[in-house]
Formats: sequence, C-alpha cells, structure tokens
Amino acid sequence: MTDRLRIAVQKKGRLADESFAMLKKCGLNFSVRGDGLLARVKNMPIDLLLVRDDDIPNFVASGACDFGLVGENVFAEEVLASEDMDIEIVRRLGFSRCRLCLAADADGPIQSPQDLNGTKIATSYPGVLNAYLKDNGIKAACVEMKGAVELAPRIDIADAICDLVSSGATLEANGLAPFATILESEAVLIGSGRKLGPNKQAIFDRLLSRIDGVIRSKDSKYIMLNAPRSQVDAITKILPGSDAPTIIPLAGSDDLVAVQAVCTENVFWQTLEDLKAAGARAILVLPIEKMMN
Ligand code: ATP
Ligand code: ZN
Repeated sequence: MTDRLRIAVQKKGRLADESFAMLKKCGLNFSVRGDGLLARVKNMPIDLLLVRDDDIPNFVASGACDFGLVGENVFAEEVLASEDMDIEIVRRLGFSRCRLCLAADADGPIQSPQDLNGTKIATSYPGVLNAYLKDNGIKAACVEMKGAVELAPRIDIADAICDLVSSGATLEANGLAPFATILESEAVLIGSGRKLGPNKQAIFDRLLSRIDGVIRSKDSKYIMLNAPRSQVDAITKILPGSDAPTIIPLAGSDDLVAVQAVCTENVFWQTLEDLKAAGARAILVLPIEKMMN
C-alpha cells in the first residue's frame, strides 16, 4: 500500500495550466511530459494523475485518487447525474471561472427561461440542466451533445443551448446570445467522504494549508504608508480587509507614524486616493508571495 497522496488533474485543456501553476506555487516540484499518466512530485509524497477532466469526479469517488482538481461545472454534473456519488468540494480555488448559460438565437423567439417551454435544448450538462428545468417548472427536452453545442440551433438539432461561457465570443460568433446563467463555476478541489490513513492525512493537511495560503495571498497586498498619528483611525477604516495595522513611530518626528497592514482584498487606485485624502503620504502597495497563519 502506497502512502503517497494521489491527486487527479486535467492533463491538457483550460484547467490544466492553472492547476499546475497553483500546485507549483504550493511548492510542489514536478514536471509534466509527453504522454505520461503520472507526474511524480519530487519533494513531497504526492503523485499527480493526469487525465481528462470528465473522469476526475469518478476517480475520486472510486478511490483511484484521493483528491482532484476539476471545474465546479463537471463536479455538479457528475453529482447530479449519479446521485450516490460520494464526493464533496473541499475548497473553491478562484481560477478557471466560467458560467453555464442558457442561450438562443439573438433575434429569435426565445429570450427568457419561460420561453423554453416546449423547446429542445442542446447541452453537455444534462444533469445540471434537468435539475434547473425541474426547479423552475419548465418543460423542455434536453438533447445531449459531447461538444460543438453552439452549432445545434443552426443545424436544427435544438432551439436553444445550455453551455459554458467565459467571454461570450463563441456564442456571438454563432449568432447566439445568453439570457440566463444557471451555474457560476470555478476550479474546485474535490475529495471523497472516505477517511485517509494518518500518513496521507498529514500530507494532505500540509498541502491544504499551502493551498489556503496561495488563495489568500492572491488578492492580498502589503500596504505601507506614513501618516499623522491623529489620522490613524480614519486611515485604518479605509484599508480594505485588514486587521489591526502595525503602527511604528518615525525617527525624528513626534507627529508622523508609519502604518503597515496586510490587506486581504484588492487594493484599487481609488483606495490610494482615499488614503491620501485622509492624510497618508509615501504610500507603497507590495505583492505578498506567501502567507501562513
Ligand atoms: P478534456 O480533454 O480534459 O475532457 P474538455 O475539452 O472537456 O477537456 P476544457 O475545454 O479544457 O475541457 O475545459 C475544462 C474546464 O475549464 C471546464 O470544464 C470549465 O470548468 C473550465 N472553463 C473555463 N473557461 C471555460 C470556457 N470559456 N469554456 C469552457 N470551459 C471553461
Ligand atoms: Zn472534458
């Protein structure tokens, strides 16, 4: 019995590069080459199983892998399509964001979900679509297609489609317009309800705390500024998502202090302008590479 943690990752495609990048940011040292099915992590007891994304939920549910990185859309589809699948989302990862949308001819008769009654809808996500139709009391037929769903209305296979959209350019190129979002998706770390042995659990806990650090440090910034002591309260209120800042006296000044804080939300130009208006000077915003609590 091996005590190496096994994680399923998409081999090639829209999830793959960002999944590899996130694992590398967690300090995992591995290389993905050629046709290999397995990438061995050199500096931790972890193996990456490189597969098609659609297989990932099943591999995790069956125990072939301990965890997987997959789009929430694929996770939801597998859970809804086979109800007894024992998998759960462990973390939302914040990359590969897209929406599962209903769309139809931009100038046609279908402009809202209610217009779908009595129509045919092409999709690769019959589980998610049927659940949506049922929840909303819409009676429509679902036509399952593995790909090229956006072509279905043009070749009269369906009246509308339910497909993934990120920028909307593919839909537009096919004369289609989205009119409703049925699922917001991002990459997720999934696991099963099975208990891990103590060794694997320890490896996973270590990895998960690094993943949490990567997620948090992505939008986090370190802010440094100088300000009159009297303005510190006002300035602290403007700092986005920060706990108590560090206040340091400045040499040679009774009045001025240095304020330093970790901001866990995005820092916009507007924030800097507000800080300046509140009396802050010499404002620096620095990226944070790693975080651990
Ligand atoms: P595979 O060969 O692994 O089966 P695939 O063709 O099914 O790959 P990709 O197109 O690589 O899948 O997409 C993988 C995942 O990336 C999607 O399931 C979705 O979660 C996410 N994604 C992000 N943006 C988009 C987009 N614009 N279109 C499709 N998927 C997207
Ligand atoms: Zn796929």
